Amino acid sequence: MADHYEVLGIERTATPDEVKKAYRRLARELHPDVNPGADAQERFKLVTHAYDVLSDPQQREQYDLGGSGGGFGGFGDIFETFFGASQRSAGPRSRRERGQDALLRIEVELGDVVFGVKRELEVDTAVVCGTCEGSCCAKGTQPITCDICQGTGQIQRSVRSLLGNVMTSSPCGTCRGYGTVIVNPCPTCGGQGRVRARRKVTVDIPAGVETGLRLQLAGQGEVGPAGGANGDLYLEVKVKHHDIFSRNGDDLLATLEVQMTDAILGTTAKVDALDGPVTIEVKPGTQSAEVITVKDRGVTHLRGSGRGDLRFGVQVVTPTKLDSKQQELINQFASTRKSSAPSLTHFQQGLFQKLRDRFLGV
Ligand SMILES: [Zn+2]
Ligand SMILES: [Zn+2]
Repeated sequence: MADHYEVLGIERTATPDEVKKAYRRLARELHPDVNPGADAQERFKLVTHAYDVLSDPQQREQYDLGGSGGGFGGFGDIFETFFGASQRSAGPRSRRERGQDALLRIEVELGDVVFGVKRELEVDTAVVCGTCEGSCCAKGTQPITCDICQGTGQIQRSVRSLLGNVMTSSPCGTCRGYGTVIVNPCPTCGGQGRVRARRKVTVDIPAGVETGLRLQLAGQGEVGPAGGANGDLYLEVKVKHHDIFSRNGDDLLATLEVQMTDAILGTTAKVDALDGPVTIEVKPGTQSAEVITVKDRGVTHLRGSGRGDLRFGVQVVTPTKLDSKQQELINQFASTRKSSAPSLTHFQQGLFQKLRDRFLGV
C-alpha cells in the first residue's frame, strides 16, 4: 500500500491544517465529477483514504507506529462542506429523483376567459436523455459498486465523545451516497440521465380563470435525474386588461353611451360583446347611471356551469353643439314643460361612483 504521506505529497511532520489543505487540493483535482478518468479515480480513492487516516489524530498515531491505519472515515464532513450532501438516511440513495416543479406565467385575453381556451406553450425543461435512456452510463457500461463504502453509500466512523466511542454514519464522499460510481458517464448528458430541451405543452385553460390563479399540470414538469419521475408544471394566469370590458366576479361590465334623445325616446342598441353581438333595450326615459343587465352573457363560472351577466352602465350624452334649427326645437320643447329648477340631492362622486355602487349592489 502506498504511503499516506507520499500520496498526499506532504512531510511526516505536516500539521493537521497542512493535511487538510493537501487533501482539498487533490480532491478538487481528482474528484470523479471533475476528472472521470479511471486513473484519476484510483488515485482519488487513495488520496481519500490517506486523508481519512491522517486527519484523525488517533488513526494517524497508529499509522505512524506502523499500525493498519484503521478503517475508513473522517471525510464525510469534508465532503459535506464540498458538495453540500447531507443525506441522513441509511443505505445508498437512488440516483433517480423526482424532477423539480416549474412555474410559468401566462397571459390570457379577457375574451378567452369567457369560455376557456386551448393554448400551446413552449416550455424549457429537461427530458430523458435519448442516448442512455436515463441510465447515465455510456453505451454498454453500467455503474460499478463503490468500493470505498462497499455499496452502502454510507461511511461509518467512530467518534470519541463524553459517552465513549459512538458510531456515526455519513454519506460516502466517493459515490456521494449512491453506493455506485459511474466510471463511464454517458457523453450526451454527462451522466445526468437527462438533457435540457424545449417541449410543447398543450394546455386547456378553463373558463372563469382569474389573475393569480395557478393551474397545476401534473407530470408536465422536468424529468428527474436518472430518469426519475417528472415534476409538475404550474401555470400562473394573468388576465389581460381589456379596453372596454372589465370584470366583477363573472359579470362583465361596460359603459353604454346613449344620446340624450335616445334616452328620452328609447332605442335598441346592437353592440359587440366578447362572445358576439348583443342587443340592448334602452327604455324610454332611461337615466344616467342606470344599469341594463343582459343575463348569462358574462364569464362562464370556473366551477360548475352557468355564466355571469353582462351589465351596462348607461351614460346619457348631452349634445354640446346645436344648430339653429335644433336650438329652436329644444326651446319649443322646453316651453311645453313646466319649468323645474335644478335641485339638491345626496352627494355622489359623480357618475362613476354611482355606477360602481349599482354594479356592486351597494
Ligand atoms: Zn445520457
Ligand atoms: Zn461509496
